[in-house]
Amino acid sequence: MVGGGIIGCALAAFLAEDGVRVRLYERDEIAAGASGRNSGLLQHPMDELLTGIYAASEQHYRELGHGFEMPEETVGVLVVGEDPAALEPTRADLAARFPELRAEALAAPHEAEPALAEDLASFMLHAGYPVPPAAATQAFATRARAAGAEIVEGTAVTPVADNGRVTGIRTPTGEEEPAGAVVVAAGPWSSALVDPTGAWRPVAPLWGVNVELRLSNPPRHSLEEGGIENLMTEGTLGPLFSLVTRGGVSALGSTFLPEPPEPAEVAPALVERGSRFVPQLAGTQAVSLRACARPISADGRPLLGPLPGTEGLFVATGHGPWGVSLGPGSARLVADAVLGRDPAIPPALAASRF
Ligand SMILES: Cc1cc2nc3c(=O)[nH]c(=O)nc-3n(C[C@H](O)[C@H](O)[C@H](O)COP(=O)(O)OP(=O)(O)OC[C@H]3O[C@@H](n4cnc5c(N)ncnc54)[C@H](O)[C@@H]3O)c2cc1C
Repeated sequence: MVGGGIIGCALAAFLAEDGVRVRLYERDEIAAGASGRNSGLLQHPMDELLTGIYAASEQHYRELGHGFEMPEETVGVLVVGEDPAALEPTRADLAARFPELRAEALAAPHEAEPALAEDLASFMLHAGYPVPPAAATQAFATRARAAGAEIVEGTAVTPVADNGRVTGIRTPTGEEEPAGAVVVAAGPWSSALVDPTGAWRPVAPLWGVNVELRLSNPPRHSLEEGGIENLMTEGTLGPLFSLVTRGGVSALGSTFLPEPPEPAEVAPALVERGSRFVPQLAGTQAVSLRACARPISADGRPLLGPLPGTEGLFVATGHGPWGVSLGPGSARLVADAVLGRDPAIPPALAASRF
């Protein structure tokens, strides 16, 4: 395994539990990337091709244990905007495509959620489980170790292949370690590891900043600006407001940038934009700032499974803005592919499509 994010750690746990001898290499520490620095919302992906993976992930989270606590109930996601006429087509579309979300227009958003500014439009999605950002990844790492997987932190590795077959990995000191299969789950850095020539680049980083704050009257719901639901399929480079609150701490987001941002430079604009939706954000001091990169693929969907041309080489990446929500379900599919079980990976999500 290459990469100790949510995907790599869940894969390591599943494979080790299925009797595979697993060693996971993480170049930094477990959950050092987006899997430890995200907004912390387990969220419906609003993409028909991914709802099965999301439902499987929800179930995995309920059974995860090892320090992870799945909230009993969703908190409700309020999609907010300034113009009701602009929000309504989105609501109607989501209501038709995903009845389970019960997309419901709110006549008086400020009454449903007093933290919101009074003149906003909003609809509610019955979705959203706030969790601590790194909790799921840490729990899967603990579970992987308990099942016998070895986790090596602080070592960056690259896959090695010979004659169209993966032979193992190479460490920075040039040592090679043999392996029957290598799974690259290195988030946005996966493309470069699979193909150092740069010819194969289906996954790129899309950097986001989160501002963590303690509000005196935090919202009860998770809040998202209209438009965020199109991220997986359309991508965007403009900032979009989001606010996820758990245990009195709110994560305010976020940006969608191709280059790593300086969080302190971006934060004031995020707070200013956010205060249009939640007025008490103005003047609130940040508790902490963090930046991390979403692994975004060229068509906005994950890349899962074997790579043609190199036997024994697998990838699991490209989960964009919803990797924590989808991670365990995807990891299970790739674990089954590694184990040689019937591949249940939909062709539209197969890594081989690129
Ligand atoms: C601002 C922001 C907010 C987000 N909020 C949410 C949210 O609320 N809900 C949600 O579901 N998703 C959210 N996401 C998306 C989610 O965080 C990601 O999709 C997910 O964490 C990706 O997981 P991963 O395991 O693929 O990659 P990563 O978490 O990036 O893990 C990859 C790991 O590989 C390691 N690595 C890289 N190269 C090597 C190498 N050569 N050798 C060894 N290790 C290597 C890295 O150090 C890293 O730890 C958010 C993302 C951002 C940026």
